[in-house]
Amino acid sequence: MEMNEPMASYHIWTVGCQMNKADSDRLASALEQLGYTFTPRADEADIVALNSCVVRQGAEDKVTARLDSLKGWRRARPEGTLALMGCMVATRTEALQERFPHVDYFMRPQEFMPLVEFAAERQGMACDVDLALLVPRRPQVSTFVPVIHGCDEFCTFCIVPYRRGRERSRPIPELVREAELLAERGVKEVILLGQIVDRYGHDLPEKPDLADMLEAVCAVEGVERLRFLTSHPRDMSQRVIDAVARLEKVCEWINLPFQAGDNKVLASMRRPYHIEEYVELVGRIRATVPGVAISTDVIVGFCGETEEQFQRTVEVLEELRFDVVHAAPYSTRSGTIAARNLTDDVPPQEKRRRMQVIEELQERIATELNTRLLGLRVEVLVESRQRGRWTGRSRTNKPVFFDDDRDWTGRLVEVEVTHTSPWSLQGRLLDGALPGSIILSRMLPEQESSVGHIPLIPV
Ligand code: SF4
Repeated sequence: MEMNEPMASYHIWTVGCQMNKADSDRLASALEQLGYTFTPRADEADIVALNSCVVRQGAEDKVTARLDSLKGWRRARPEGTLALMGCMVATRTEALQERFPHVDYFMRPQEFMPLVEFAAERQGMACDVDLALLVPRRPQVSTFVPVIHGCDEFCTFCIVPYRRGRERSRPIPELVREAELLAERGVKEVILLGQIVDRYGHDLPEKPDLADMLEAVCAVEGVERLRFLTSHPRDMSQRVIDAVARLEKVCEWINLPFQAGDNKVLASMRRPYHIEEYVELVGRIRATVPGVAISTDVIVGFCGETEEQFQRTVEVLEELRFDVVHAAPYSTRSGTIAARNLTDDVPPQEKRRRMQVIEELQERIATELNTRLLGLRVEVLVESRQRGRWTGRSRTNKPVFFDDDRDWTGRLVEVEVTHTSPWSLQGRLLDGALPGSIILSRMLPEQESSVGHIPLIPV
């Protein structure tokens, strides 16, 4: 690949989950290696890509507003290129083309190669795409790696399977190679992504599972920590739980959505488990993985959810005392099974009230869990400096802040916790960085709380 026109620029705007963020990073990497430079101003870019999300109405509205705002840019720069990618783009694009005629490319999730090929041609370059082209050149200390795309599940409320297609796992050697490239470029923590990450491998010829893949990526020198999300309760096998307990690089943190505490509501959501099985699973994870933090996702006010059924969700939250709860009020997504067959009959003000009940409950639980950490030491992977303070995450995905004049970016340090809030920890740096590749064994107490990345499936 030869560069002969290095001044072209691109702008990527992203909403939605970590999978979108990972896609945007990969597209950015490809464009940069084709000689494009990032510009924070869309109106100055030669190529603009909007990476969209339609899981909630609010996200879709943002994308629509952003697309409309670019009509003026398109008129002023007819030679510019505008691409819409991500979950707003279904298999058929006629309706989108009619609604947004100023868009040049409509690309489904992960399917951004037409834009990369166009960008290469525009630069007069060949486009021999390989993995290295897509791995970010300057990745963040903690970087997302999609390991399984799509979802075969069809929960009644969810649009994802219609937009991201059937499940497709990436082979282990490809993931190991990507982790090696990332480690060479300074990445210390890899976050393995899937809509249902614990279904990893079932579609591959050798049928490896998530435990096999975790073991393989753990062997990559330079990668100090691994995380994975999002898990499905039905697919969380004892083998995977044992791997989390056994593999030192795998952090003690699992995101395990339960969505509702009532079995009838779960059935109408097409969630294939009973709440009793979920409670048993959480108990087994906690018994197997010392100090594990578990976060969850909950939908409030799903079609037909009575007050009594909502109270079952509250009871589960009280009983299991999650480290983090991602709660969202139900909203109908056009094209889903629920939109076709169920009635969104819980009034908006009642949904808001139920949300408030959960938020207040979780704030109390998180406060109690975090207070227990006062005076204890946590291992922190330092990610960046924000407003003069170093910030990173504990192994249980809790944001930790501390002060120090030296540069700790990408280093593992030990911090003594001096202040806590429901959402983060503050502390005092102890004894400088931990030696290069040494990973501390489980030193966190049981029930450490975690406040982390937004869930992959924001429902
Ligand atoms: S909620 Fe998750 S498991 Fe269910 S259909 Fe959506 S992506 Fe798949």
